[in-house]
Amino acid sequence: MDFHFDTKAVRFPRKPKADTVSKVQPIYQTSAFVFEDLDDLESFYEGKKDYLYTRVSNPNTDDLGMGVADLEGAPKGVATSSGLSAILAGVLAVVKAGDHIVACEDLYGGTFSLFNGELPDFGIEVSFVDFTDSEKIENAIRPNTKLLYTESVTNPLLRVEDLNLLKNLGQKHKLVTMVDNTFATPYLLQPYLLGIDLVVHSATKYIGGHSDVTAGVLVGREDLMAKAKAKVINLGANLSPFEAWLGCRGLKTMSVRMDRHVKNAAILASELKTVKGIKNVYYPEYVAERGSGAMVSIELDDEADVKTFFKSLGWVKIIPTLAGLDTTVSYPIATSHRTVPEDTRQKLGINKQLIRISVGIENEIDIVEAFKSAVEKSLS
Ligand code: PLP
Repeated sequence: MDFHFDTKAVRFPRKPKADTVSKVQPIYQTSAFVFEDLDDLESFYEGKKDYLYTRVSNPNTDDLGMGVADLEGAPKGVATSSGLSAILAGVLAVVKAGDHIVACEDLYGGTFSLFNGELPDFGIEVSFVDFTDSEKIENAIRPNTKLLYTESVTNPLLRVEDLNLLKNLGQKHKLVTMVDNTFATPYLLQPYLLGIDLVVHSATKYIGGHSDVTAGVLVGREDLMAKAKAKVINLGANLSPFEAWLGCRGLKTMSVRMDRHVKNAAILASELKTVKGIKNVYYPEYVAERGSGAMVSIELDDEADVKTFFKSLGWVKIIPTLAGLDTTVSYPIATSHRTVPEDTRQKLGINKQLIRISVGIENEIDIVEAFKSAVEKSLS
């Protein structure tokens, strides 16, 4: 048929490639999907077809959600626009106005802001509690408490949560348990298999792995995931197909990247323990059989000058994120934990001498040398 110019210009694909299977999942960069006729359209609502509109579902976002769910051993997963929106979707799948959450006090600052600054406006209260003390957790539980929330390895002090204890408390008080597993990754730890109901990831970190994606994934119990999926759709918290595709690409190499990240971090933590000018090295003794993760935090001695330390790091850059291929540093009191009240920060040990290191996959000798030399300069 000979169409007019304007019609011709928009008619793609010229040759639909239904019979061509590419090795890598194509990117379904489309906002919606085509239906042959009204019966075909109805088949979506009857559950016979998966895709209608990308905010609702898309093959690439499904790939990422299901890919992480598989690695976590969970039945369902959903990919979202960020780690924070995955946290919100999970939380709102459990609580509503009038409900209460008990959360650990040493949370990632962005999660703290969401819980402390936003949820109360929706009638949801949160108590922040020392999760190293189960009595304090139990004392904070009220008749309207619905959720226990924590991080498997906390940010930035790298405290390892006792997930077994959390599961038992959840069962005893009939509460849903939710864990942010970003620092540990599904490669090291699978909280769902330990009995945790919902597990969340900032896929911006080790899942994406290359510092080029902002994404989140929530996985967990089927009934809760159905509610969480509805929240993602209704809040418009879906992930774009291209970002999801990048997330899947990252997921494929996560295990090999993590092996190198973890090896380098263990070496760096051990080397820094004996360096003059460092008061404390935070690195978990044990997270899982495959290692303790790739984040190391250090507290410099009071006489060390922090500004000089950062200036002297050379090729190691200050970047307020983590989990990329390259070693980077961040300054929690100025960035990730800026919104956490000063008294809470002091109590936790998040002070002006604390530096968080995201250990990369470079040669370990170069990494150790960069930090030793910067600490030495910070003392002079
Ligand atoms: N959880 C943890 C432990 C994080 O470190 C971050 C971000 O740094 C988030 C959640 C939020 O993730 P996103 O920045 O992808 O929203």
